[in-house]
Amino acid sequence: MINQDRLTEYTMDLIRIDSPSKQEKEVAMKLKHDMEKIGADCSFDNADKKVNGNIGNLTVKIRGNTDAPPFFFSSHMDTVSPGIGIKPHVKDGIMRSDGTTILGSDDKSGVAIIVEVIKSLQENNIPHGDIEVAFTICEEIGLLGAKYYDVNQISAKHGIVLDSSTPDRLVLRCPSAEDLYFTVQGVEAHAGLCPEDGISAIKVASDAISAMTFGRIDHETTSNIGIIKGGVATNIVTGKVEVVGEVRSHDEQKLNAQVYHMKECFLNAAKKHKIVLNGQQLEAKVDVETQRAYDRMDVGDESFITKLVLQAVDNLGHKVKLYTTGGGCDANYFNKFGISCANLGTGMYELHTVNEYLVLEEQQRCAKIMLETVRLNAEN
Ligand SMILES: [Zn+2]
Repeated sequence: MINQDRLTEYTMDLIRIDSPSKQEKEVAMKLKHDMEKIGADCSFDNADKKVNGNIGNLTVKIRGNTDAPPFFFSSHMDTVSPGIGIKPHVKDGIMRSDGTTILGSDDKSGVAIIVEVIKSLQENNIPHGDIEVAFTICEEIGLLGAKYYDVNQISAKHGIVLDSSTPDRLVLRCPSAEDLYFTVQGVEAHAGLCPEDGISAIKVASDAISAMTFGRIDHETTSNIGIIKGGVATNIVTGKVEVVGEVRSHDEQKLNAQVYHMKECFLNAAKKHKIVLNGQQLEAKVDVETQRAYDRMDVGDESFITKLVLQAVDNLGHKVKLYTTGGGCDANYFNKFGISCANLGTGMYELHTVNEYLVLEEQQRCAKIMLETVRLNAEN
């Protein structure tokens, strides 16, 4: 019942429209136009004001043809770089870019599936409740569209986010994430004339980082130092260094313990670097700021949405694994807001690289599973 050629064509149409984060307006207006043409109510929220973008999140509502409970869908409209002027093509059932850009199937493949499912529901007169869709902005820069989504517009209690790799996996668990910002303040001095009058912020930061455990902490906790900035010239003892890192975990206690460890490494390193200058004691200082990026989600193996998708997959003769991932997604926020949401893969691979590709058979399978899920939701 899914129109496979139309799904492929629509995916390519969306991909050809540039939509880097904060500049989703053109693709959002196309979606609004196409959805209104088939009878949907469309509206934008004010998330663009919060992120300084050119359009807010798009909410699309399709009235049900039965009084079955509503069902929620979401995919994000923005793409990473290099993603301007993408030229998609299909060969042997695989969609790719020309190799100079990403493909942008992350997440246009999901957006196109939602549109195709809605069209198929209508054309085949399949019983369904209201369909409520959030096409979000700025997922790629920290789930910001979902974070600022006006969830009061949604009455559905469960749904699906389409924004992961393979439809062999239903993602139920994503970690919490915390960002850490360290600013190390040393003392500047001429590196040739009087290095002993300075405290190198680079030395302090490197002491801190070399004392630190990060990377894979355990099976559900990871940590990284991702950015170091600092220094002006080789002949100046560096006065300031900024270091940015993150911690992710499915367990809040483990996350807090790792955050504490990383802070301690910096504070202890600072204490070790002291000088006396003109009778005055000077020491390195570290300023630490932490910011919660997003909270963990755990939909549960026995939740209504999990069972619904498992039943749909079974009805179609496919298999799906319940999955725990180390990445966050918009569903982290939707679950926090009270919509029980799992994340099903759309067939996209090598994301965020110019080698990104979409397996059309998998995208079609995802669409069929979603159509069956919505049908079952009306039956239950
Ligand atoms: Zn994505």
